[in-house]
Amino acid sequence: MNKEAYIAYLQSRKASNKTNYYLSSLQEIDRIRKDFDHKPKILLHACCGPCAGWPLEFLHDIFDITIIFNNSNIYPEKEYTRRLEELKKLLALKGYDDIQLIVTPYDNVSYTRELEPMKDDPEGWERCFFCYRKRMEEAYRYAVENHFDYFTTVMTISRQKDSQKLNEIGLDLQKKYPSVRYFCSDFKKKGGQVRRDEIVRELDLYHQDYCGCIYSYMQRKKEN
Ligand code: SF4
Repeated sequence: MNKEAYIAYLQSRKASNKTNYYLSSLQEIDRIRKDFDHKPKILLHACCGPCAGWPLEFLHDIFDITIIFNNSNIYPEKEYTRRLEELKKLLALKGYDDIQLIVTPYDNVSYTRELEPMKDDPEGWERCFFCYRKRMEEAYRYAVENHFDYFTTVMTISRQKDSQKLNEIGLDLQKKYPSVRYFCSDFKKKGGQVRRDEIVRELDLYHQDYCGCIYSYMQRKKEN
């Protein structure tokens, strides 16, 4: 990893004006209420049950939601299955019978091969940016092929993930695939993170202690 480049990135992030994507989400909801006489279809990328709980409550009255579980980053397979099962448990316990769940094929071997050149990057930098974009773009293409109105991801709820970057990627994908609109978000804001934790407790959801890939798994093992 290039340490100078990482430090320069952190400094540039601190100095730059941050966009309030929570406000953008409220503005978009206002626009939808004016422009649509029905619930628009949104494809929601979800990485696990705990992170999906609050975004689902936030979006459920506005959108006709389909969830896509596209997360080949998760290592090992047992953990992938557990996170998927917790997402199903959330949907069942919340009574979201109207929400369809799409599960894309799992291939952690190929995914890890692609991450490997960035394995020494600190969490929250280029390996993660690659990982955000890869999963989001694959899911975005599904949204395009299946004629969704909107796409978004629950990942902005995580304090460990860079919401500015996630939204920049989403807006970039909207430019590339203009038939689907990207719904900007910052789900952690305005009590979102607190509500997330409440839902985890209320439903007794399993809450993982590392992000997902083998590198974050090994890092957490080292720390414990
Ligand atoms: S730490 Fe998380 S976001 Fe970063 S590469 Fe690993 S799984 Fe992806």
